[in-house]
Amino acid sequence: MTEQRSARWQQARRARQAAGDPEELINAARAGDPRALARLVSLVEDESAALPAVMKVIAPMTGGAQIIGLTGSPGVGKSTVTAALVRCFRAQGLRVGVLAVDPSSPFSGGALLGDRIRMQDHATDDQVFIRSMASRGHLGGLSWATPQALRILDAAGFDVIMIETVGVGQAEVEIASLADSSLVVVAPGLGDSIQAAKAGILEIADVFIVNKSDRPGTQEVIRDLRTMLAMASYGPGEWKPPIIATTAPSGEGISDLAAAISKHGSWLADTGALGDRRRARAREEISAIALTELRQRIGDLPGESRLEELAARVAAGELDPYSAADELVSG
Ligand code: GDP
Repeated sequence: MTEQRSARWQQARRARQAAGDPEELINAARAGDPRALARLVSLVEDESAALPAVMKVIAPMTGGAQIIGLTGSPGVGKSTVTAALVRCFRAQGLRVGVLAVDPSSPFSGGALLGDRIRMQDHATDDQVFIRSMASRGHLGGLSWATPQALRILDAAGFDVIMIETVGVGQAEVEIASLADSSLVVVAPGLGDSIQAAKAGILEIADVFIVNKSDRPGTQEVIRDLRTMLAMASYGPGEWKPPIIATTAPSGEGISDLAAAISKHGSWLADTGALGDRRRARAREEISAIALTELRQRIGDLPGESRLEELAARVAAGELDPYSAADELVSG
């Protein structure tokens, strides 16, 4: 460890000890302290009351990271592709964060993709942060928690943040839509392209990855995807998702994949699509937080509260439910 770095670590440790000050925690995380960062992400998972203060401090520090979503059915090779991509980004000198999110099991909080990736390589690399996310709470679930965790990693100075989701489904599409660039992984022999089409995954893909390209059936999967893409019409200047074949364990195709991601990043920036996507994301975020607060307000009301009173009037036919809802929201 260089002297400068060890000084930074000491500074980070001191900040950690100053418990509860969001600014110091963030400074420590930006200086590369993984525990400060882990604590900040835990604030999200625990729906901590300190979170709004943290978000206020970090708002001006966000916007620098390219956020990459990665989806696909279990077994297609997502965690292997992620590990290979992390290696590739690290070779380019980039700081990489990975959030592994399981929308289907809100209480797992345990050994998801991220832990497997951590075990494989990057255990000793302090420029790589890997975290499995679960929504232990019940307020807004992962659609509320994921963007907040992304903000924290973004503010902590990661160049690239990857979000992985497990399984194919609507929740996954929602979480993938948080990304600047969405990668959809399929593999031969799993009927994935068809499954993906059914789940509406194709519409969100910016890059298709046909992993396990060492397996028979790869060309058929590529052909199916090409046929599907040919049916969609792309205007001039529109992004047409490329199809990249990879064999993740050997790293074959991974540099092509990284190049495609980078090209998509440039396209987003050059066309203004990045701003559009981020504004759309911010709209969703604001709504999710507002709805969570509203739900809390309604749910937290005591027994003989406004809701009870309104419910009694609606049940008695004195008031209609729309007017009652209006009163509840405005009151
Ligand atoms: P995930 O569930 O989508 O994250 O899939 P994993 O990354 O855990 O991979 C599932 C299995 O497929 C593991 O045994 C991997 O070693 C294997 N695998 C991943 N990529 C490839 C590949 O390109 N070719 C082959 N033959 N096997 C692969």
